Amino acid sequence: MLDFVVIFTKGGVVLWNSQTSGINFSSCINSLIRGVILEDRNTESKYFEEDHLAVQFKLDNELDLVYAAVFQKVIKLNYLDAFLADMQFAFKEKFGSIPALERLGSEYDFDGEFRSVLSAAEEASSKQVKAPKAMRSYNESQKSKKTVASMIQDDKKPVEKRVNIQESPTQSKSQPSSPPLTKQDIIQENRRKLREKLTPTKKAADTKSSAKQGASEKAGKKPRVWDLGGNSKDAVLLDRSKDSPEDVQYQSISNELVGTMQGVIPDLDVESEDDVDSEEASSEEDNVSSQSPALKKSKRGGGLVSYFRGIVGGKIMSLADLQPALEKMRDHLISKNVASEIAVKLCDSVATSLEGKQVGTFDSVASLVKEALTQSLVRILSPKRRIDIIRDALESKRSGKPYTIIFCGVNGVGKSTNLAKICFWLIENDFNVLIAACDTFRAGAVEQLRTHTRHLNALHPPTNHNNRTMVQLYEKGYGKDAAGIAMEAIKFAHETKVDVVLVDTAGRMQDNEPLMRSLSKLIKVNNPDLVLFVGEALVGNEAVDQLVKFNQSLADYSSNENPHIIDGIVLTKFDTIDDKVGAAISMTYITGQPIVFVGTGQTYADLKAINVNAVVNSLMK
Ligand code: GDP
Repeated sequence: MLDFVVIFTKGGVVLWNSQTSGINFSSCINSLIRGVILEDRNTESKYFEEDHLAVQFKLDNELDLVYAAVFQKVIKLNYLDAFLADMQFAFKEKFGSIPALERLGSEYDFDGEFRSVLSAAEEASSKQVKAPKAMRSYNESQKSKKTVASMIQDDKKPVEKRVNIQESPTQSKSQPSSPPLTKQDIIQENRRKLREKLTPTKKAADTKSSAKQGASEKAGKKPRVWDLGGNSKDAVLLDRSKDSPEDVQYQSISNELVGTMQGVIPDLDVESEDDVDSEEASSEEDNVSSQSPALKKSKRGGGLVSYFRGIVGGKIMSLADLQPALEKMRDHLISKNVASEIAVKLCDSVATSLEGKQVGTFDSVASLVKEALTQSLVRILSPKRRIDIIRDALESKRSGKPYTIIFCGVNGVGKSTNLAKICFWLIENDFNVLIAACDTFRAGAVEQLRTHTRHLNALHPPTNHNNRTMVQLYEKGYGKDAAGIAMEAIKFAHETKVDVVLVDTAGRMQDNEPLMRSLSKLIKVNNPDLVLFVGEALVGNEAVDQLVKFNQSLADYSSNENPHIIDGIVLTKFDTIDDKVGAAISMTYITGQPIVFVGTGQTYADLKAINVNAVVNSLMK
């Protein structure tokens, strides 16, 4: 059954192997080393596939070894976890005290132990097979996806209970195969899966946010003033839905912003250790002053790392020792709005880094936990596709066509405001911009953009830019076809050599089919360089639902073979969420789309780039 079993160092030096077939497994193992072990990617799942082969593996962090079993992927082997653990135990018993490299010249005589461990595992598994549990039905097995699903609301489906999502890949593949599907069935099935993937756990929170959404729909759009949004004077002033005498005052305040946004977007601020220190100092008599801020915080009783306090003391950490702390850590992450499946994955990666390590002090556990979290979040938040607007806009300029960005999202999330901030950043980098007013629904939408245009031009007058007008508004009033206006605007920009076109669109609910169809059409006929989804961090997992459904609709309603879906995310109102940063992680994890901009307030300069360390620090609190 097992074609190849191998023990090798994380660097790829094979210490021992056993082969039962003539196939060459080196390519598969090399891919595992290159693609997973060295990149430290996906090591939580401990499963890897290449062509027709599957590899189940186990890491030994203490000795830096990998135990791997290779088999045909169509075969389901339920004893591999136990077998690899037993093999690791037997190998360590025999050779563990001698570092791998010291023994490289000598033989690792492990065949006897391997045979007895394997036959014990096979025997134990065959006993289990004699008294099998009733096979799960297809529907039951879908519950394993429920935790991601728990984020999204689906009124038509009853809410299912959460089940263990740590099921290994081999187990999860053991569903009975379905009859052949037609193309329509596949589409339906994919849509159902997508819906299921994104159904709510936090019913209450979702209901609240839907109610909030519904209310704002009915009442029409109202400007908001955010308590935590910093200077309330600025809040009023940057609300451009109505023109007011404060305009003049606003300009004098904002003049200070000119020149602050040149070059790449600044990163989100990371809370400095000094901040935490001073917080600590004032809050208690400090008997741990020599320790790290995260540690100090946890000594006070708070902080994610404090859950690991019970497992220090010089011993080698096993999964069983870590389990209670990991469960608390998972709940902590969920409380920060991280979707539960992602919270489990983050815990798994921490477990992988800690398991088998001998850790002496609480301080070292704290830094290991932080390091593991950071590594996982870097993987999640690192964009699969690099979006470099300045570079691409320059490229378009060279080829004589305007660079076009379309903004979409539901009502009131900050599309127009953040479009204006992005416009400010572009102007600061010497691009001139045409704003296309394609929200032809909402009263005041065009006036709001007109006011932004006037203010932006006041901040960056033509005299400072070789007599170029840095921002113009292309508008055709209300009730007209948005796709047509965008097309005319792009044509106008082309003819008049404008560098960038920013297309504002009407807010729409993700479930509104006619409006989603018209957005899909607008994108299809105008073929923009970038489609940005604007979502507010404030509504947490509701924003994930919106993003997923926008993507789905753009894919469904476009008749293109390769529909243009969302390219990136503008995550707004980040200043209002305190440390509940989970939506940022969930959105990128679930859709793979990068967060290109983070809106952090209500001035033109409140635009930032995502910073993994800032996110990790918020999660650790
Ligand atoms: P739209 O309907 O999506 O175009 O939303 P608007 O751009 O009109 O913004 C709605 C409200 O959100 C306005 O009051 C903005 O000032 C506010 N807003 C937008 N972005 C941010 C942000 O990053 N932080 C805060 N605190 N408020 C914001």
